[in-house]
Amino acid sequence: MTRRAVGFGYPGGYHAGMTRGAELICTGTELLIGRTVNTHVQRLALALEPLGLELTRETSVPDHRETIAEVLREARTRSEILFITGGLGPTNDDVTREAVADALGRSLRRDPESLERIRHRCLRLGQAFTESRQRQADVVDGAVVLPNPVGAAPGERIELEDGRVWFLLPGPPREFEAILETQVLPWLAVHRPGQPRLRRLWMVCGLGESDVIEILKQAGFEPGPLELAWCAAPGALEVRLTTGPEHADWLERAAQVVRAALGPHVYAEERLDLVEVVARQLRSRGATLAVAESCTGGWLAARLTTYPGSSEWFRGGIVAYANEVKIQQLGVPEPLLATHGAVSEAVALAMARGVRERLGATIGVGITGIAGPTGGTPEKPVGLVWWAVADETGAAAVSRRFPGDRELVRRWAAQFALDHVRRRLLGLPPVA
Ligand code: ATP
Repeated sequence: MTRRAVGFGYPGGYHAGMTRGAELICTGTELLIGRTVNTHVQRLALALEPLGLELTRETSVPDHRETIAEVLREARTRSEILFITGGLGPTNDDVTREAVADALGRSLRRDPESLERIRHRCLRLGQAFTESRQRQADVVDGAVVLPNPVGAAPGERIELEDGRVWFLLPGPPREFEAILETQVLPWLAVHRPGQPRLRRLWMVCGLGESDVIEILKQAGFEPGPLELAWCAAPGALEVRLTTGPEHADWLERAAQVVRAALGPHVYAEERLDLVEVVARQLRSRGATLAVAESCTGGWLAARLTTYPGSSEWFRGGIVAYANEVKIQQLGVPEPLLATHGAVSEAVALAMARGVRERLGATIGVGITGIAGPTGGTPEKPVGLVWWAVADETGAAAVSRRFPGDRELVRRWAAQFALDHVRRRLLGLPPVA
């Protein structure tokens, strides 16, 4: 996924109506050598959003005391709220407390209550109450201790003289989340409330970012104090407008322009998977779906069945990779394959009709394409996919050449075929 924020010529750009910033510093050499995926960034950003607080920067640093202290001193000059995670454990590479104390010019003290909790924990788990485990009760002088309900090392809240606040939180995601949920977020909501931002978003299939920019320009869209941002995945572009509450009227006006301009390309006005949108349509009509997949190899069926309750509207799928399977299982006429080839309009239509009929569904989908990296020809290059949708009124097929590698071509194809179903259910033509 790519995420970008553009100002559309507005000089404030990304900063338009920005709320007060919070910064995250993740310590851990494992984050920098590719051993651990940093999940704290996403978790924290999503948790702060409803409070009207914005994560404005994230830095990962190795378990090195001087480096951590240096990054902390820098961060102190710019951020009002600072989260520091990891390195609070018992081992010799856990040096975050020391680094925080260095950066603030404070000392460490051993917190008796935390020590007691650790002693009990050791007893309960049959662990030796060693000096290295006791070290986890060391906290920065002046810090408020945030007990850890699921681990040994407590978190800490340090309120600085200038009103800034630093949170120290353990690295293990379970412990990080437990302290965040029970002690950090409730405190922030009361003591550092932000201003929740206003947001409107549209999920779009069939248009890229530059298409949307062009369409919006032609529709006379004026971003003014609004931040226009995107999040793009194959066949699922999120177009988002965000601003502060003082610009509610502007947002409302702009939203109407965007909605009208993007029209049927919009499949949802909230963060919804296209599968969910199609599922709702099918359910409300009492209709069912069956899929015949060649190049997507069952991926569409797998996506459809991710949703609980999909048996209500999903009849099933046939992965028809070999020509014989297309013929035997879907009833694709052999001469069609011989004349047009497996990746063709005629075969996609026959697959959609065949699976609809054989699996007794209201709607049938057929997908056939060249996912690559080999198998392309000048007439039928890698990335070319034909898909078709059939229902009781007839069938229609569309083709596209999708960019990217094998995996991406498969994702694009499944998403566009699904969008074709959505459009057919709404009586709209498919995106060509
Ligand atoms: P411990 O008591 O386990 O040593 P700690 O507070 O010292 O806890 P770390 O040693 O830095 O934390 O990390 C402990 C575990 O949490 C490791 O498995 C590490 O990969 C994971 N972890 C640390 N930081 C992150 C992060 N930002 N995102 C995801 N996992 C993380």
